[in-house]
Amino acid sequence: MFRFRNGLKHMFRFLPFRRELHHQSLRQNEDFLLVTWDSCRFDAFLRARLPNLGQYGPPQRGWAMGTYTLPAHVAMFQGFLPHAFCGEPFYNRFRQQLWRIGHRRIHVKPLVTFPMGTQNVVAGFRDRGYFTAGVAAMDWFRDAQVLREGFEKFQVTGRCARKQNDLLISWLDRHSAGRDCFAFVNYGETHSPFEFEGQTTQPRCVTEQFDRTRLWNQPGVLKEPWTFDDQAFCQQVACAEYLDARTGELIDYFRRRGRPTTVVVCGDHGECFGENGLFGHAFYHEKVMEVPLLIFRLNAPPHDPPEPSEFCPDHER
Ligand SMILES: [Zn+2]
Repeated sequence: MFRFRNGLKHMFRFLPFRRELHHQSLRQNEDFLLVTWDSCRFDAFLRARLPNLGQYGPPQRGWAMGTYTLPAHVAMFQGFLPHAFCGEPFYNRFRQQLWRIGHRRIHVKPLVTFPMGTQNVVAGFRDRGYFTAGVAAMDWFRDAQVLREGFEKFQVTGRCARKQNDLLISWLDRHSAGRDCFAFVNYGETHSPFEFEGQTTQPRCVTEQFDRTRLWNQPGVLKEPWTFDDQAFCQQVACAEYLDARTGELIDYFRRRGRPTTVVVCGDHGECFGENGLFGHAFYHEKVMEVPLLIFRLNAPPHDPPEPSEFCPDHER
């Protein structure tokens, strides 16, 4: 009886959005997993050995929507993933947008469309009866309420990818058996000081260079000449290799769930390792904006090609 009532509850939450379903191409149940590797640069991702993610094709070079964690994730939760200038749906939102709030004058139906006025993508899934759960390493998720909105379960964990996986999986087992889910992980190992569980050594100069006090006192002006901090870069590469294993464990879990699942793995923004005299992020620089972007589907064939959208004047802002 409990399960039946729960089913009815989710069905009634879903009904008001039937009209919006007309404006999206997804026609069946689907789980979603969004994974961000904080501060991971595109070239660090390319340099790393990634036996798990490597199975899903080469990453695209994406351009971040923000220079630091807060705006980059706000943009993603509003449906704006990093943008890749390629012809692939979802990587290029002009080809087809993965998640979209509102249906305005666009040429193809997004995979998922939420009604205009929906708070964010997470709340949109929650309102459709999805279980929405997130775990995040970075303090921004504790300090900024906007990054937790829409989540039924959320925890700021600090940098500990293994613990994040365990927590998320335990929630999904408990609350999402037979129920659609939107799951989110922000891993922090690729963020300075580039440390991960079981790491053997951390060059002292990396710790010193990326110490917060030192970063906050950097002059913030472009300098010539400059030298690239290869040790710190290699340390981020090592963290990326560590996160490949953890992300692989999470993907295996979703495989075992057996449901069609769309997975997005990306950097939220990049990092400077001394280019033009700059270290860190939260300022505009090509290496801060350039991030890896990988999108694939589990337990089902790739999504159908984009289909034309019908212009609906009611939805014009
Ligand atoms: Zn970040």
